[in-house]
Amino acid sequence: MKIVLATGNAGKVREFREMCEVEVIPYKELTGDLEIVEDGESFAQNARIKARTIFEALDKEAIVIADDSGISLPILGGAPGIYSARYAAEGASDKENLHKLIDALKAKGLNKTPAYYTAAIAVVSPRGEYVVHGWMHGQVIDEARGDKGFGYDPIFIPEGYMLTLGELDDEVKKAISHRAKAMALAKPIIEMLQRK
Ligand code: IMP
Repeated sequence: MKIVLATGNAGKVREFREMCEVEVIPYKELTGDLEIVEDGESFAQNARIKARTIFEALDKEAIVIADDSGISLPILGGAPGIYSARYAAEGASDKENLHKLIDALKAKGLNKTPAYYTAAIAVVSPRGEYVVHGWMHGQVIDEARGDKGFGYDPIFIPEGYMLTLGELDDEVKKAISHRAKAMALAKPIIEMLQRK
């Protein structure tokens, strides 16, 4: 059975390929552009929505993997959370989103505060649906440092480190990230669905 990835993001395709050790196909190669309305109220719901939309477009004959992720700050009541990609505005750049978060921190009179990343991975298949999560805890600071990673990485210092994910080696992020932890849980599920 085909394993199809519900993302157009080349970086995510590469990460999933490395993890699954089998051929994963980006959905656009099979379905072309599809409108996916991410109107869920949680990472899990949005990951499920993406995976289900593509599963149905493929006549329910594939194992479809989708992920949804973001950063949450307890001091902001969990924001930006599921709105991380569009925190500053619909279609905002990573930089605009990051600066909006720095401004929110400064407005609270803080130069750092606890934060965590969440990744939900949904697997939708003819034999059922599964969702797993991974988290990475740390601190958000009020200035961007380093240019590695993406999104909010230049202002995020993982627990146990002194540097931001913008400054740390990619290998560090690969070992401790929310996405890597969720992927480790999704892998045996995908293998089990392939065996059946
Ligand atoms: P999506 O899962 O591709 O929709 O990503 C949601 C948004 O969350 C991204 O645009 C980033 O702003 C943020 N995000 C998710 N994972 C990461 C990460 O590993 N580093 C930095 N930002 C992230």
